[in-house]
Amino acid sequence: MAEFEQNLARELAELRKRHAYREFRTIQGIPGEWVEIKGRRLLNLSSNNYLGIANHPFIKETSVRAVEELGCGATASRYIAGNYELYDQVEQELARLKNTEEVLLFNTGYAANLGIISALVGKGDLVLCDKLNHASIIDGIILSGAKLLRYKHLDLAHLEKILRQETGYRRRLIVTDTVFSMDGDLAPLPEIVNLKEKYGAVLMIDEAHGGGVFGPNGGGLAEFYGVSDRVEVTLGTLGKAYGCAGAYVAGRRVVIDYLRNKTRSLIFTTGLPPAVLGGIQGAIRVVRNEGWRRKEVLGKAAKVRDSLAGAGFNILNTRSQIIPLVTGTNETTMEFSRRLEEAQILAVAIRSPAVPPNLARLRLTVMATHRPEDLAQAVETIIDIGRELAVI
Ligand code: PMP
Repeated sequence: MAEFEQNLARELAELRKRHAYREFRTIQGIPGEWVEIKGRRLLNLSSNNYLGIANHPFIKETSVRAVEELGCGATASRYIAGNYELYDQVEQELARLKNTEEVLLFNTGYAANLGIISALVGKGDLVLCDKLNHASIIDGIILSGAKLLRYKHLDLAHLEKILRQETGYRRRLIVTDTVFSMDGDLAPLPEIVNLKEKYGAVLMIDEAHGGGVFGPNGGGLAEFYGVSDRVEVTLGTLGKAYGCAGAYVAGRRVVIDYLRNKTRSLIFTTGLPPAVLGGIQGAIRVVRNEGWRRKEVLGKAAKVRDSLAGAGFNILNTRSQIIPLVTGTNETTMEFSRRLEEAQILAVAIRSPAVPPNLARLRLTVMATHRPEDLAQAVETIIDIGRELAVI
């Protein structure tokens, strides 16, 4: 026992030394455009609540109504006695929003990626994975036992080279984020779709950060590019732009039917509670009907991007509401984040190993409902601190 704990303590000390130790921050009250931490108000540039609807009155109302009508728990796996009517309704409404044959809900995006990928591929299959795909995709591939080959980030020539060379597999699955979670750049979906068709592969996209934000109906980046019906498997999450929790996979009937029968992270888990499903039902309507939120978030993000890039910051190739402010080492990034917190701005440090060493960054995110004057003030503060720390 003592030795076990000593070993853990040693590893934790090592993490602290590398500025890689993690702690929770506790938010007091509502996590909105501003948040309160330890009694201080901070501008929230660290939220995935991109459309600003996590506290939307209509969504709260549909969530509370579901609790009042149905209680607090699903009480079982959906395959046993946990599949109540609201599940079917929400899946049908999401399918209409996504303009797809069927949708299947999951409890989290992490569980969805783990389950879907390990159901679709296994030994004898190949997965071609963008180098910067989300950790849940990587974990799903590892769990599947399929061969994993990572292509250089957004590099179509590299992807095609692998597709040309690596043949003889039962199935070849290309997986990509659409909007990259730590970089904010966009996958070239039309070109990836063309390549997968040319080489007879299958494509799975992760719209965690594209859903609700991109596309005329908030259908995601695939909708924006008009390629949704050429993608076999589309994953979306409901805890970010949708302001609720959970995730879904959208696709043609046979694909969803297969996943319903084969996905262990769905089969062996308790269903989502009514509070969440009721909230999702409200959020679907808000995402569809309040298109102004998409215009606002992308318009405001473009302004912040232009100002920060204009001041000399490296913001990589972001074209979305996620703005990576590359600061260099873990240490500088932590110091930058701390200084911003002093100046009433919450901008969380993303450090190696989550991102490559020397590309540690602050991941800034813009919400549709941020006030323009708050964003302008934040940009000024960021530029001042960037100069003081010699980042620019
Ligand atoms: N995919 C991507 C690209 C993500 O960024 C995330 C969450 N950070 C997930 C999947 C997991 O989604 P969830 O938070 O619902 O588990």
